[in-house]
This record gives sequence, structure tokens and C-alpha cells, in this order.
Amino acid sequence: MRYSYVAIALLLSTGSLWAQTIANYQKAFSILQKAISTTGKDLPNSVLITSSGIIHNMGHYDVPEKTKDIPVEEVAAYFQQEQVAYLRSVIQNNGLSLIQSSVSKSDSVYTTGYYNRSLVRSNSQEFQYEAAKLLPIKLLQLAYTNRQSLRYLGEQDSHFLLSFSYNSNDAVTLCINTKTFLLDRIEKLGYNDRYGDVLFVSEYKGYTSTNGLQVPASRTDYEFGQVERELTYKDIRFNVKPDTSSLQLRWVPVTFQRKLPEVIQKAESLSVETIAPNLDLIKITSQNNKVLVAQFSDHIALFESPSGLGLNQQIIREIQSRYPQKPLRQVFLTHHHPDHAGGIRAFADLPVTFITTAGNEAYFKKLLSGTHTLNEFNKESGKSYRFDFVPAEGQKTYSDDQLTVVAYEIGKNTSHTAEHLVYYFPQQKLLWSGDLLFFRADGRIFPSGDRGKSVYNLITTKQLAVDKIYTSWPLNGQAPYGTIDDLRKSSEAK
Ligand SMILES: [Zn+2]
Repeated sequence: MRYSYVAIALLLSTGSLWAQTIANYQKAFSILQKAISTTGKDLPNSVLITSSGIIHNMGHYDVPEKTKDIPVEEVAAYFQQEQVAYLRSVIQNNGLSLIQSSVSKSDSVYTTGYYNRSLVRSNSQEFQYEAAKLLPIKLLQLAYTNRQSLRYLGEQDSHFLLSFSYNSNDAVTLCINTKTFLLDRIEKLGYNDRYGDVLFVSEYKGYTSTNGLQVPASRTDYEFGQVERELTYKDIRFNVKPDTSSLQLRWVPVTFQRKLPEVIQKAESLSVETIAPNLDLIKITSQNNKVLVAQFSDHIALFESPSGLGLNQQIIREIQSRYPQKPLRQVFLTHHHPDHAGGIRAFADLPVTFITTAGNEAYFKKLLSGTHTLNEFNKESGKSYRFDFVPAEGQKTYSDDQLTVVAYEIGKNTSHTAEHLVYYFPQQKLLWSGDLLFFRADGRIFPSGDRGKSVYNLITTKQLAVDKIYTSWPLNGQAPYGTIDDLRKSSEAK
């Protein structure tokens, strides 16, 4: 009896620990989001900013910790869609004008130094941070990009303290003003074998808004407890280009220069094909999968929703642009597996009906209510959807004056999932199935086992007129469709 109390206590405390981490992250995330929207909302794709001031250079001078003031001008440019960042700083020292330049594209960076003009190529992780430090919105965006590491540290001196990591061994503390939600200060722990454990600090002061972007009037950097540089922001330009006309880039290899203006696309590749009146197939070539789109007289229905929120949002946009007059109102699912229903969260905020079976309700509700702040998908947990269940071993018809589809529940005999729907379009004599059938492109027939037999039995017992049988997953190596003859052969094969 005592032991079971201990077990229950352990379970409860483990549960609250999990919740603590998520709650802490979500608090940090909401502060960060507010800071980002306060600092710069709907920014143009590119920003170029110039600042100038003094580096208090600690060199080999006559007394300890003596510094020499060196004038510096910094130019930083950021290109969101191209994932390009550019930094150029010019110092005046001993009568010489010396230049240090870096330009990064995605994860690589080219740099030339003040005193060594040879070109060095390296990984851009550290550079991304150094470049972001020059403009608060970029630093906040870097924290957002790395938000899986984001934590709330507490509140101190009218600042929220958040922490994030941009690589495995570096953590940055953001000090966000509790009143203005602007970034006043950043701190980063470092090590130096003369000074020991040290702090690198940047302070931003005197924010003003330019075209919706909050830009500080000045930045002060501290190293080893001393002021390292003091800069005043001078000039800000938007919509410059990541090429030699806007940036001085003749020193990077031509091949790299040419790559800079390329927009980094994260989109899936879709191709749409009409397979019958009112029925279009969307081939997801990048995911080796397919979904079906059906046109009713006043709305659109989608069949299957494979994993990938980005993918499903892209499918939604594709449907909106192809059928602008008809809203998406129904999502028909064959079964609960991820490659068929893993993406339903993308539809949770739309007034759609999910056609499925009752055994999936609890699981689907869980998928539909999850938060997805670590994805680019930051929507409310959906409340607009509803369910429509097809009864076990039963059928249900969805029909209007343009299209009819009949859902049949046949899970019990499929040996695949306990509940499984197959969709029949009588006007087109077309059957849509999930994971039960495969029709090879080379025409070879393989035994289909219980899965194929379950569909074959459905067609024969219900006496469905079927010309074409379409399947969802997979795409590659598959014939466009199979026939009742193919199905008979594969369900008889041993
Ligand atoms: Zn499956």
C-alpha cells in the first residue's frame, strides 16, 4: 500500500516537471513574440544599416589595460528570403583605412580580415550571431529561429530575462524591457585564459521607429568589464539587393556571388492532374505521396492529409488558388496512419468536417489541439472543425447535384487498421483507397493478402461499378491506377 502511494507521487511529480518545462518555454515564447512584434512587424525582405563610432582597442600599450581609440564604421545587411547576411567594418588606424568583410549564405560564410586579406570560408553559426548583434530585431529573430532552446530566467530590474542557444556551447541572455518590450541588453558568457570567466555585453539605447522598425540610437559593447566599442546608428535602407550593386562584394568567389540572390525555397513540389470530372489528383513528388481533391457544387473536399503542416498549408493554398469560388469544407480520411492523417492540424482552424471513424476521435482531437510554436505554424488550437463518423462495417453517402461519394468502413477484414474507409465515386466509377492496394508501374502482380481481398470483396458484394482504383501512398513505382482485373489477380495470387 505504501509503495503504491510512492508510485503515485512519483507519477504526479514527473507529470508536473514536464509541464514546467513547457510552461516555462511558452512564457518565454510569448515574451519573445511580443518583443518581435513590437520591434519590427511586417519588415521588408532586406535591411541595410550603417553605424559609426569608436573601438577602444586594448593593445600592447605602455600601461595595463590602456586602450587606443580607433574610429570604425560598420555596415550590416540582412536578406530574409535569400538567407544572406553581410557585415563590413572599416577602421582608421595609423593612417590606414582597413576593411573587414564577411558575407554568409545559409550555413557558409566568406571573410577577409583587417590585416589579412586572404579569403577564409567557414561555418556561419558564429557569424550569424555577430551579424544579428548589430540590429536588435535580427537578434530577436535569431532567438526565434533557435526557440527550442528558449527559456524564461525570471524578471530583474524591470527586464524579462530570456535565454537561448544558437549553437551547442553558447547561450545568450536577452534582457527585454517589461514596459516597452524592446531589447535593452544582451549578455553572453565566455572564457578568456587571462581574465577567466568573462561576460560579453551589448547595450542598446534610444529606440526610434523607422518604417515600423525600432532601431536604437546607439549600441555599446563591453568585453572583460570594459567598454570595447561605442556606436551610433546613422542610416537605414530597405529593399537593397544582395549583389555587388548594393554590397561591395567583388572579393568573394564569383560562384558564391551568383548564389547570393537565390531565394531559399522550403516548399514541397506538387503537381495537379485531373483524373475524372470533378476529381483532381495532387501528386506530392517531394514526399512520394498523393491526395485527391473533389469538387462539389459549392465546396471542395480533400481526401487524405499526410504529415507535414507546411505541406498541408501548401495544399490549402493550392486549393484556394485553383478553386477560388469554393471553400474547402470536408477532409475525408481513410485511416489514422501519419502518411494519411498526420497533417490534420493544418485544418483545425477552418470550418471543415473530418470524415473518419469513431475510434480515431480521441487521437485526432489530440492532434488537432497540439500547440506548434516550434514549427513555423503558430496558430490557435483549432475549434472550428467537427467530426462525421462512418459507422463500423457501415456506409455513408455525401452527395449534391454535382458529385456523390460513398464511404465504406471495412477495417475489420483489412489486417491493416481496425477501422479503414474506402471511398467510391459512382459517377466516375472510381474508387479511392488508402494503404490497402498497390499497383506496380511495371505491371507485375503481387499477392495483396487480406488488404486487397477486403477491397475486392467490397466491390463484389456491393456490386460497385469500378473502372479505376486510385491509391494514395506511394507515388513512385506505381501505375497511375489499377483496374478491377488487376485487383482480382492480386487478391487471388499466392
Ligand atoms: Zn496505413
